[in-house]
Amino acid sequence: MTSSEELHKRRGAAVARGVGSVIPAYVATASGGTITDVDGREWIDFAAGIAVTNVGNSAPAVVEAVRAQVERFTHTCFMVAPYESYVAVCEQLNALTPGGFEKRSALFNSGAEAVENAVKIARHATGRPAVVVFDHAYHGRTNLTMALTAKNMPYKHRFGPFAGEIHRVPMSYPLRDGGLDGATAAARAIELVEKQVGAENVAALLIEPIQGEGGFVVPAPGFLPALREWATTAGVVFVADEIQTGFCRTGDWFACQHEGVEPDLITLAKGIAGGLPLAAVTGRAELMDAVHVGGLGGTYGGNPIACAAALAAIETMHELDLAGAARQIEAVLGARLRAIAARDPRIAEVRGRGAMLAVEIVVPGSLTPDPVATAAISAACHAAGLLTLTCGTYGNVLRFLPPLVISADELHRGLDILDAAFG
Ligand SMILES: *Cc1c(COP(=O)(O)O)cnc(C)c1O
Repeated sequence: MTSSEELHKRRGAAVARGVGSVIPAYVATASGGTITDVDGREWIDFAAGIAVTNVGNSAPAVVEAVRAQVERFTHTCFMVAPYESYVAVCEQLNALTPGGFEKRSALFNSGAEAVENAVKIARHATGRPAVVVFDHAYHGRTNLTMALTAKNMPYKHRFGPFAGEIHRVPMSYPLRDGGLDGATAAARAIELVEKQVGAENVAALLIEPIQGEGGFVVPAPGFLPALREWATTAGVVFVADEIQTGFCRTGDWFACQHEGVEPDLITLAKGIAGGLPLAAVTGRAELMDAVHVGGLGGTYGGNPIACAAALAAIETMHELDLAGAARQIEAVLGARLRAIAARDPRIAEVRGRGAMLAVEIVVPGSLTPDPVATAAISAACHAAGLLTLTCGTYGNVLRFLPPLVISADELHRGLDILDAAFG
């Protein structure tokens, strides 16, 4: 097989520079918790393809479902000639997502596309233009979702002009807002919306219940419920972007469930289909069905192979109790991270939930972000065979997103590497 080094050279001459990669190794195979490159080098996987392979790579049920479907038919376009698996995925999502009310779903290809469609639906259903988003938010890289995303580099820089009627308000970020309680932090955001936008102009409030790319920011308890309550009163559609937090990642099916928050619309992608590209908007039937026939869709949305994979992945999550697995990972990973934090003053905070944990790295004795140290620790992990990711507005958060099927042995070996990387 061609070596990673040779492939990297070929890539330089063929692949656009704007598409980056975390490691310069080219994958040959990947399993539950280990990625092997074309040279036979192994990395323990604390990335899961950015919270996608919650059921692991090539999960047996997913492989079988995809194989069976690919032999039956590959694509007819649901908008042209529909098929059962699309309907079945929507049934599953309507049943699994929080909220006992009547729901509908629509399927798309990517997270960004799901977010775009949630905004379309909310605007159409309310007849209002404005969308409220938060500091540190990440919602994608298309034109509308770049406008919704907070961080300039690398996501937005020189890609404007952006879509209008997007209004950004402060997030609850306990480490960096002086530990403001959730209700107070929500009141601060709501006051800005009411004074600067006008509640009656707001179609949707869009929020990640735990922020992903923005730094695994967990809002103070009470923040989400207070926003939920305000949205109900103000007739604003509460949209939870659970693209990174969904599908057992945080120790429950969805992160909103930890505080009993029932969103009007939920955007889903990443973990939904065991690695195949699929995304969804699920929500209140009266909002979803407000849109005229033909107003939603796309050529590939709900592709039959991706739908077959999603049904198998969801079945696997039930069978293996992957929400429980995420809580077990939290116990092991969290304890180890807290032990490292106890001896290393660069760690300002260990945070997250379930198998979505992170450490925020600062200059000791201050809250000054240290992205250089963060990158160095991450690079040390990569060199020693552990695939880690960084994130955060300040680039100073080291995040951990292992597949939920990672073995105890892989988890411990990964943590030994991480421990050594902190020195
Ligand atoms: C990854 C992500 C998106 C965008 O999903 P894509 O599939 O990359 O378009 C949107 N929102 C959140 C919270 C994400 O983590």
